[in-house]
Amino acid sequence: MTTALHDMTVAELAAALKAKQFSAVECAQHFLARAQADHSGSFLALNPEATLTQARASDGRIAAGKAGPLEGVPLGHKDIFVTKDFPTTAGSKMLEGYRSPFDATLVSRLAGAGMLTLGKLNCDEFAMGSGNENSAYGPVKNPWDAARVPGGSSGGSAAAIAARLVPAATGTDTGGSIRQPASFCGITGIKPTYGRASRYGMIAYASSLDQGGPMARTAEDCALLLSAMCGPDPDRDSTSLDLPAEDFTACLGADLKGLRIGIAQEFFGEGLAPDVRSAVDAALAELTKLGAVLVPISLPRTELSIPVYYIIAPAEASSNLSRYDGVKFGHRAKDYTDLESMYKKSRAEGFGSEVKRRIMTGTYVLSHGYYDAYYLQAQKIRRMIAQDFQQAFKQCDVIAGPVAPKVAWRLGENANDPVADYLADIFTLPASLAGLPGMSVPAGFGAHGMPVGLQLIGNYFAEARLLNVAHRLQQATDFHLRKPEGGQ
Ligand code: GLN
Repeated sequence: MTTALHDMTVAELAAALKAKQFSAVECAQHFLARAQADHSGSFLALNPEATLTQARASDGRIAAGKAGPLEGVPLGHKDIFVTKDFPTTAGSKMLEGYRSPFDATLVSRLAGAGMLTLGKLNCDEFAMGSGNENSAYGPVKNPWDAARVPGGSSGGSAAAIAARLVPAATGTDTGGSIRQPASFCGITGIKPTYGRASRYGMIAYASSLDQGGPMARTAEDCALLLSAMCGPDPDRDSTSLDLPAEDFTACLGADLKGLRIGIAQEFFGEGLAPDVRSAVDAALAELTKLGAVLVPISLPRTELSIPVYYIIAPAEASSNLSRYDGVKFGHRAKDYTDLESMYKKSRAEGFGSEVKRRIMTGTYVLSHGYYDAYYLQAQKIRRMIAQDFQQAFKQCDVIAGPVAPKVAWRLGENANDPVADYLADIFTLPASLAGLPGMSVPAGFGAHGMPVGLQLIGNYFAEARLLNVAHRLQQATDFHLRKPEGGQ
């Protein structure tokens, strides 16, 4: 029996396309048909004509022997990356109908490797959220249980990959938005070191934390995409690091013998649901069978990462989102009397309630009289959190633990309690605040048959090592191969 196209990994699709087993147009048509038939809410925009035009160009390059490494393989982009050929909304009414005149750097780099854009994927408004429930365009259903959230903010990306609507997608991670939805949907995702991949054309939420990265079913696929995404972008993102692109597949398969995996007691405390804990423990046991050793470490300021993040991120957001004033681009209210009422009405109508909450929090913590007490204090603790990691990395090579305290919650469960969502970010926020790379790899299943991810955190620039640990785990387990039953 031949594998259906949608069950193939990025690596398999790239090889089959290169071997001309099917054309890029046939492949794109297959995925487009699935995307068009989908009712999960994952896609916000399709443009079959644009996708097929790209596919024909790919077929031309394959025929001419000029194929890129991922030639003809389709992917979806989180709707926070601006795209010329597709509208970009950032999940917000504010940007309804917005068309960017250019592609984000990550979009053009992946296109440069030969990949085709299948469509744009749903996300929390301006990437603010943990369940994709803050999207102005409706929630996304988790393919493992349609009554549950797919995680957020890259919820559409994670759900579409799990449902085999796309073989891979881009995501962004400011405080966990690649890792947590990957965990909730049973897929793999990596947030590289802050600055590894350009932020140009990635709609800003909290600029000192925002980082794009790949999501796919396997660590190998993430490595393939990440290799295309990374590298300096000096003219467009001055914070992108001056590090050459790397082949992240080069170390896949390396022996784990003697690898020291740090286990932070703070990640395994009372708040961790027992079902998540046992899946994580089982994955760790698997890694020790492969030769890794577990060493106890401490990340003493883990709990503080919640207030620190929820001061810094809104502070930066309040500044970044000031550009949506109804003048330059985005929604403009119809009936206003003067400039000020136009600003006020446009913003009141365009932003959803979570975004408004963050803007108000951010404005407050930056305001005269509170700046020192909140923002400055948070910056100091952020520095200490980063130092705690450096202390820990003296004792271990990677850190492992849960991604989230519990499995995906039911849609609407936290509707009147935004803080419940914030608290669930506890295990992903520390690495974000420190700018460290982190990933989620399927570790098994917990309550209600929902997927559980294992989080791996590495020191700066240790993406290749993280990907290898995840890859070795995937060679020893089959969680990443399981398909949600509701899937087509
Ligand atoms: N849940 C976090 C927030 O709402 C993280 C979101 C993200 O990483 N974009 O801010």
